[in-house]
Amino acid sequence: MKNLLGIKPPGIVQLHDKRLTRREIALSVARLDEVHPLISGNKFYKLTYYLSKALKSPSPEIISFGGAYSNHLHALAFTAQALGIKSTGIIRGEKPTHLSPTLQDCAYYGMNLQFLSRNEYRLQQNKLLQIQDSYENPIIIPEGGFGEMGMQGAALMYDDIRGNEYTHIICACGTGTSIAGLLQNADSSQVITGISVLKGYPNLKRDILSLVPGKTGENLQIFHEFHFGGYAKYNADLHLFMNEWYRRFEIPSDFVYTGKLFFALDHLLEHGFFPRGSRILCIHSGGLQGNRSLNPGSLIF
Ligand SMILES: *Cc1c(COP(=O)(O)O)cnc(C)c1O
Repeated sequence: MKNLLGIKPPGIVQLHDKRLTRREIALSVARLDEVHPLISGNKFYKLTYYLSKALKSPSPEIISFGGAYSNHLHALAFTAQALGIKSTGIIRGEKPTHLSPTLQDCAYYGMNLQFLSRNEYRLQQNKLLQIQDSYENPIIIPEGGFGEMGMQGAALMYDDIRGNEYTHIICACGTGTSIAGLLQNADSSQVITGISVLKGYPNLKRDILSLVPGKTGENLQIFHEFHFGGYAKYNADLHLFMNEWYRRFEIPSDFVYTGKLFFALDHLLEHGFFPRGSRILCIHSGGLQGNRSLNPGSLIF
């Protein structure tokens, strides 16, 4: 399916600076942001099995859920159109006068958008997920692609990024589905570190482990203090850091996930979290399209 959509394997780049050299740490970044001009990051992996299941139906259709800036719906809208699958996005919140750039794209790719108040949205999601087992079609994907099938898709990432070559793998977590996929394939000697971008989600680790039966998670560590005020919240410090990171390494980041991930990584490096000799892989999970909702000029890339 990757070939069909023209998705390339992610490039892996090694970063160099004095601090890394001094501590004999090898730091690489998996550039999932560059695998395709429109399908960015980890989202295609999470969708893989849902898409192939949908394609078995004579009139394939997928319904999923998300907010106005959802990278998940963005990737779904484009891939569904490219594969001839009908898609519906159920959007949390009343219909705004101006659609976000993300939703404008979704509509342009042919996704049918339905807006529901927060309360109705929750109820509708629960209802559809409950009845989904009784129907082959349409396929219902929970918000953010969370779930066992999303995890199995995310696990496909591990070989593409040559996960077994590293002592540490670090990535940003929303639902935690992607990191669950990495954890499934990782060796217990590898440290898997997740940076939660949500505020007040203390049970994230428990929910991740619920997706990967048989893993006890002693090599899984989640940090909860790098959310900058909550999901999609930001401040001038975050923008300064993202610009600085770009100047240092020429790697652009997004303000919802990967800006916070690189900030956390920088902090952990500074505070000696990674032992001498570590080989770290940081996953750039994409999401750059979301930066279009920022004021022009906030970022230098
Ligand atoms: C969705 C997303 C994540 C989080 O993925 P989960 O599997 O929900 O944890 C991380 N980075 C980016 C850029 C994303 O779009």
